[in-house]
Amino acid sequence: PAAAMVGGGAGADAGIDRVLWTEAEIAARVSEVAAELAADLRALREPAVVVGVATGAFLFLADLVRRVDAPLAVDLVRAESYGDGTESSGRPRITSDLKVDVAGKHVVVVEDIVDTGNTISCLIAYLEKKGASSISVCTFLDKPARRTANFQLVGDGKFYRGFECPDSFVVGYGMDYAELYRNLPYVGVLKAEMYKKDTSN
Ligand code: 5GP
Ligand code: MG
Ligand code: MG
Repeated sequence: PAAAMVGGGAGADAGIDRVLWTEAEIAARVSEVAAELAADLRALREPAVVVGVATGAFLFLADLVRRVDAPLAVDLVRAESYGDGTESSGRPRITSDLKVDVAGKHVVVVEDIVDTGNTISCLIAYLEKKGASSISVCTFLDKPARRTANFQLVGDGKFYRGFECPDSFVVGYGMDYAELYRNLPYVGVLKAEMYKKDTSN
């Protein structure tokens, strides 16, 4: 939808100021990333384990894996660092464990957005400790302007990203503000007045 058409009513988009990537733009880009990832995964000798990071990556994960034509397992972890605010606490925690054994496996971590890099660093350390033989990162959005933690991929791991994100807090396509807006099919920026109630951190 055009900027003029969002944010006014009582729907899921209430409070959205403008759209950064539309549903169609997202779909097109996810297909490209999936093709790149599929080519790499098909070259492996055994199925990779795709680990989505809940809750934010759930739509990207679902759209991505169904477009990846390669054998793979899917699992989820939960990592939390934000609370209800817009600034990371800097100390992420893994609050839900994997079901699949990743020892000796090629792991692809699927994230909604890499911002400071703290969460992905924490996840890489966690998966490395569990014996993953390689760790790739596939993030829908990458916000390099705010990076403070330089994460290192493991083994032959690669970095895949959908879009480079400007330095503003975005919502939609899985990403929340205070658990809302995850169901928007596009990515947008909130109106400034939506943050007035922000008392976290
Ligand atoms: P990091 O640890 O890299 O600073 O942030 C990682 C997590 O914080 C992301 O996976 C995401 O859940 C959340 N996050 C970072 N930036 C944004 C943003 O602009 N919007 C939303 N909704 N979440 C974000
Ligand atoms: Mg996340
Ligand atoms: Mg969040």
